Amino acid sequence: MDHETAQLHLQTSKLMGVDFLPVGQRTSITETTNQHSSLEQLKLEHDASCPHCTNATGHTQTVFGTGNPNASLMFIGEAPGAEEDLQGIPFVGAAGQKLTQIIEAIGMTREDVYIANILKSRPHENRTPLPNEVADCGPFVKKQIDIIKPDVIVTLGTPATKYILATDQGITRLRGTWGTYENIPVLPTYHPAYLLRNYTTEIRGQVWNDMQLVRAQLNQ
Ligand code: URA
Repeated sequence: MDHETAQLHLQTSKLMGVDFLPVGQRTSITETTNQHSSLEQLKLEHDASCPHCTNATGHTQTVFGTGNPNASLMFIGEAPGAEEDLQGIPFVGAAGQKLTQIIEAIGMTREDVYIANILKSRPHENRTPLPNEVADCGPFVKKQIDIIKPDVIVTLGTPATKYILATDQGITRLRGTWGTYENIPVLPTYHPAYLLRNYTTEIRGQVWNDMQLVRAQLNQ
């Protein structure tokens, strides 16, 4: 459910004197609205104080996150690319369209899940985030997790996986293997940009298998 629909439900239910729990919603509409406000507040805090983004140059705007503030499933990528930088929304370029297909393949929509990146501003020439950049901006994605409290996190590619799982191992070793972050199950999988560059039966099958694991975990 998008935020506007949630607000309408909230107003109606308040008029009726109830705070109900709609199908597919993990907590009450009031709680979802609180999570939405907390995320908006965190975005303001991030844009004013992130040690990386307030000093970064070359980007148009920060790209904070998108989706359901009460999502059961959260995806974490690396950093905005050119299209994301223009639109201010994560995963809207070619890799983003592939991610949308992956989400829909497990019976969900982009509006059901929450999508964010480790870095909130686009690195020069789309280079891989540097360790100090991740250390400076990364704590904000952890605060996003803390507000959303998803049931499952999927890390997309090496930088997100290394940061969230606090590991030195890369995605080839870790994909398809469950880890945990603050008691939340974390499944690393290939970044959709890698999948697009290596569109083989083997890599597609691995991502498909990973997403089946995610679906099964969400169904528990
Ligand atoms: N790649 C990412 O890691 N994040 C985006 O938002 C877009 C491309």
